[in-house]
Amino acid sequence: YADTAMYQAKKNGRGNFQFYTPEMQVKIKEWLKLEGELRQAIQRNEFVLFYQPQVNLRTGKICGLEALIRWQHPQYGLLSPDRFIPLAEEVGLIIEIGEWVIRTACQQNKSWQDAGLPCVPIAINLSPNQLLQPKIAENIIHILQDSGLEGKYLGIELTENVSMESPDKNLLIMQDLKSCGVRISIDDFGTGYSNLTYLKQFPVDEIKIDKAFVRDMTTDFQDDAITSTVIAIAHTLRLQVVAEGVESLGQISLLSQRQCDVVQGYYFSRPLTTKACTGFLAKDPSLTAMPVTPG
Ligand code: C2E
Ligand code: MG
Ligand code: MG
Ligand code: MG
Repeated sequence: YADTAMYQAKKNGRGNFQFYTPEMQVKIKEWLKLEGELRQAIQRNEFVLFYQPQVNLRTGKICGLEALIRWQHPQYGLLSPDRFIPLAEEVGLIIEIGEWVIRTACQQNKSWQDAGLPCVPIAINLSPNQLLQPKIAENIIHILQDSGLEGKYLGIELTENVSMESPDKNLLIMQDLKSCGVRISIDDFGTGYSNLTYLKQFPVDEIKIDKAFVRDMTTDFQDDAITSTVIAIAHTLRLQVVAEGVESLGQISLLSQRQCDVVQGYYFSRPLTTKACTGFLAKDPSLTAMPVTPG
């Protein structure tokens, strides 16, 4: 997987000598091959969305889904987003792929609702470059209308770095989406260039604490302290808090003590295929799946 070699070659730029080792040539070939395949992947219907349930800690009920893309590559099998989203960003394909994600997630959520399954918001991840698109808010609203899904059943997840880039323009985009009921989350909170002012300026609904803090919070007092502090800030600002990467009952009970609102992670469920998620929603897993400790 060769994007580092490619980035390096690009960074060195024009007028500089660049010596390619045979190994680098092989990697760059692979990279170009993957790019070509990525360009055809939408037409070939090779992308799939997985859906990970989010659970409200007070009620124990499923309260949301996050849509996570995978690429069913004919040769390499199921690829995770970290393997191709950076490439898609680099070559400008993220816009088209991103639109496919939004459309598919909206249509899927609508058809779950039409089937009488629980109505919960579905969140999609928005890349930095997608937010730079001039008509991004209009496009999202258009897709919502096409699918017939109410705006309040769609959420967008942005990283802190995204929201830093051009604050005035981003504010307008967020306001447009908010006026249609779309929910806004700050993803991977605590790992970017945090600027707390943005939480005040932007119409954010939710903070997602990065799994790096959740992982060791039961054993590392610093991670516990950071998590507690983020929860306190969020609640003071009337924002909901989601903890990512929750894998154990110990984490759940500590997060519950710390007044965290929502958990997402392998403990409750891995990201599920459409079919598995349909079954999950149909079973109303809230009744049995997890012990709830009173906050
Ligand atoms: P993210 O938005 O922070 O998503 C959470 C990631 O944590 C997902 O990885 C999920 O599978 C993983 N995860 C969930 N529960 C647990 C757990 O208990 N333990 C651990 N260790 N991990 C857990 P995934 O699906 O590989 O996605 C990675 C990243 O790729 C996402 O991070 C997101 O930034 C990006 N991504 C995913 N789908 C899309 C998409 O449709 N568009 C864009 N632009 N980016 C996407
Ligand atoms: Mg996310
Ligand atoms: Mg995250
Ligand atoms: Mg991430």
